[in-house]
Amino acid sequence: MGRRGEEKNINLAVAKLTGQYIADEHPDVKIVYTRTKDVFIGLDERADIANKANANLFISIHSNALSSRRSPIQGAEVYVFGVTRSAENLEVAKRENSVILLEDNYQQKYEGYDPNSAESSIIFEFMVNLYAEQSLNFASMVQRELVKTADRENRGVKQAGYLVLRKSSMPRILIELDYISNREAENYLLSTSGQKSLARAISNAFTEYKKEFDNKEHNSAKESSGKQQAAVLPDTNRLPVLTEQAPAPQPEKTVSTGRIYKIQILASVTKLPDKSPELKGYKTDYFVEGKYYKYTYGESSDWNEINKLRQKIAKDFNKAFIIAFENGVKIPINN
Ligand SMILES: [Zn+2]
Repeated sequence: MGRRGEEKNINLAVAKLTGQYIADEHPDVKIVYTRTKDVFIGLDERADIANKANANLFISIHSNALSSRRSPIQGAEVYVFGVTRSAENLEVAKRENSVILLEDNYQQKYEGYDPNSAESSIIFEFMVNLYAEQSLNFASMVQRELVKTADRENRGVKQAGYLVLRKSSMPRILIELDYISNREAENYLLSTSGQKSLARAISNAFTEYKKEFDNKEHNSAKESSGKQQAAVLPDTNRLPVLTEQAPAPQPEKTVSTGRIYKIQILASVTKLPDKSPELKGYKTDYFVEGKYYKYTYGESSDWNEINKLRQKIAKDFNKAFIIAFENGVKIPINN
């Protein structure tokens, strides 16, 4: 809530205008809205909508606020998904994430994420950050435009653990247009001319991004006749989905008996392609646990041996840790 307006109405107005401008300039672009009227859509549902549409880009539009109405702070920020150690960024993410309290059973849906707890952001720690580079690239374009075309104060491109961005399998950004807690900024956000400039800024950045995107598509189409498949999230209601994936050639897979150790290098909500840059060329294995694909490297029945291996790969995976299995079942490491 600002003094005169509410965040949800500003966001919706700017989102619709942005879509309209993009549609006018790019008839080849299909625009999918998570909402076109005053309804609440859960954070995961927003990501689902984008995933189901096989979207190439996800734009989440918001207005920022500080709890102090007297704060002079104003300006635009664009966020990409990631783990943050910055208390300030964490506060913004916590506030935006707190709308999950409007959803039933949010504790199950978001794996125990508690919007009131700072520690909750740590659940993002081991998640692989897909499309980080493209997201950052687009975020910079939008930030530049918000300053240039909409004349917003530049508060920079930042990173934080937004739930709404977590499960979207495409380049994705979250825009905080400006602060409704600041009187001057709020007036701007509520004005028709302000909303038009903000939408213009975002659509200009979109045009710039699309140009690069089309060039890349064109080039990769020339290189290979096979069409690039977008990464799509597995339907988590039907996990495990391993059998539904095209069977990858399995290297001499033996069923291990007894106690074995592996090194978990990362977890992802999507199944990664074999040559995924996140795997850094390592020959990895994976298993499904909960909603995650957990990627492992190495295998040994000898703790010292696996620990040495972990140290060896620390240069590439500094957060890797050892996990244990007994007769193929994962067991707590302290056993
Ligand atoms: Zn918001």
